[in-house]
Amino acid sequence: MKISKVETFLVRWGDVARPAEANSGSATAVVAVHADGLVGLGEASPMQGGVASLAVIARDMAPALVGADALDHAVILDRLLHKLIKLGPDGIVTGAFAAIDIALWDLKGKAFRQPIYKLLGGAWRTRIPFYASIGNNGARDVDGVVKAVEARLKAEHPSAIKIRWDGVRGEIDRDIAGDIAKARAVRRLVGDDFPLAFDANNRYSIGAAIRVGRVLEDLGYLWFEEPVESYHAKAMGEVAQRLDITVSAGEQSYTLQSVAALIESGVRMVQPDIVKMGGVTGLMQCAALCHAHGVEFVPHQTQPAIGNAANLHVLATHMRATKPAELADGWSRAADTFVNAPKPDAGCLVVPDGAGLGLVIDEAMLARRRVELIG
Ligand code: CA
Repeated sequence: MKISKVETFLVRWGDVARPAEANSGSATAVVAVHADGLVGLGEASPMQGGVASLAVIARDMAPALVGADALDHAVILDRLLHKLIKLGPDGIVTGAFAAIDIALWDLKGKAFRQPIYKLLGGAWRTRIPFYASIGNNGARDVDGVVKAVEARLKAEHPSAIKIRWDGVRGEIDRDIAGDIAKARAVRRLVGDDFPLAFDANNRYSIGAAIRVGRVLEDLGYLWFEEPVESYHAKAMGEVAQRLDITVSAGEQSYTLQSVAALIESGVRMVQPDIVKMGGVTGLMQCAALCHAHGVEFVPHQTQPAIGNAANLHVLATHMRATKPAELADGWSRAADTFVNAPKPDAGCLVVPDGAGLGLVIDEAMLARRRVELIG
């Protein structure tokens, strides 16, 4: 199954009628791997548009891929990782590997005419409960947060809700009382039993995290995500060990070793992201690592089509699902291009059952949304 071509491009969301340079919609960074008349699609981490990862693929990875056998995929990627390790390993280079890995799994599934979850060993379930992940609550007042949560509850009927703070990176302990007021208001809105999560987006010191965490315990929140800076693994572990509420982290971990460091620090729920953490292969390795340590494996996921579908294939094969799958804001933006992109269906997302990722593509729309990278 000889790889004949590797393409990299952006798919620009937003108003397709506007010229690409005037379209301010977000973009997805895509790699397309061709072999035997088939095309596998993968997606890189969207940080800064994913452009840097695509550049590394085009310049440093594609020449080694073209001519190789797609079925040698683990060997090819491990060889390339060790060749390029000083470009990373965390960040741009690992986001690039994630994209290629997803594309190669998509390609293999198409070659064998099987969904990826079948190649991974089969699905425990193909309907996966999801939680609505609601961002930008740092910038809203209490009423605004309640309205945002109400709107998603009404529109999507999620199995759980996560409120994210987002906000300015590096701004620590800015409005602890205000954050607590928002957490209380959301609990009042949804009632005592509805599953809730609180994502601090790394905005607390250890002391503030303990204080907020105690309130979240009283309010019955299910988990407390990234209370402190992600690069302070020991601090994350300290908060996790001092609180009763489950503390989670790992969306900013790009290697298995980084995830291992979080677990060693005391974090007991990890959230690797398929478009950062080695793609399907990397996420399966994380699942095994979590299983070995008795730690919850609950992937992070923000992307509307390729990343979401790839994540669901992995979750389908995971026996010990303890939390719903993430469905972030803006999930519907890809629907005119990836026409069966997973969407809310009675509290669940349905894993596509076609070959590979199983995504059905409107090729004409994809061509209109496609933006070539120059340089
Ligand atoms: Ca998060």
